[in-house]
Amino acid sequence: MGTFFFYLKGTSIWDFVPKHGDSYLIKEIVKIRNDLVVALGGWDRAIDGLSRFVVGNKFLSGKVYDVLRVARVKKPWMSCVWKHFIPPKHSFTVWLASRGRLTTKDRLTFLNLDDVSCYFCRSSPESIGHIFFGCSFTTVVWAEIRKWLGVARDMSTLASAIKWIKKKFKGCRVKDRVVRIAFSSTIFEVWAARNVINFDGGNVSTQDIIARVKTTAYRILYKLNPHFRFTF
Ligand SMILES: [Zn+2]
Repeated sequence: MGTFFFYLKGTSIWDFVPKHGDSYLIKEIVKIRNDLVVALGGWDRAIDGLSRFVVGNKFLSGKVYDVLRVARVKKPWMSCVWKHFIPPKHSFTVWLASRGRLTTKDRLTFLNLDDVSCYFCRSSPESIGHIFFGCSFTTVVWAEIRKWLGVARDMSTLASAIKWIKKKFKGCRVKDRVVRIAFSSTIFEVWAARNVINFDGGNVSTQDIIARVKTTAYRILYKLNPHFRFTF
């Protein structure tokens, strides 16, 4: 019984990212892969899990079908944040944001809102692009988080940030993990803060968000390795 290897266009099925011009078949295979990742509870588990379906040289596709049939989920989560140490609610928020699915005011035009401005800065229309990477409020949060992590690069859009983090921090070093945790946690906390202001009329400062992101990161890292000495 070995690790399940399958290649698409010379790339491991697990790393393959479909492009616009790829064939229908390839896109369908990738969809099944993503469903499997969700059904089995993460990338590592999917890779291990599929290996269990290989007996000798035979791949028991019927068993895979059973798994998918039971837990078919329509959309994949973002692979860069789909790691067992990242809270699912954080991954889910990043995934929703990356798919343009968070209900920012620009998506609620049917409500004819009088005030379409951002809850943080009150000076620009609220959109996903604005609240995460265009807003002066969030810029302060990111600057502080990047300084804390020692990450010099500025991030201008969610898509480019995810792509960059996926490439640069894909390993299992503490730094890789903490960057991914902090990134998804920041997205989550910014969105949560926006909702506190919107629904509860509360007030959230940049320092509140930064403190929450750091606490989340320390808590998870401590859980992963209680003996690790944090130098940041
Ligand atoms: Zn703003």
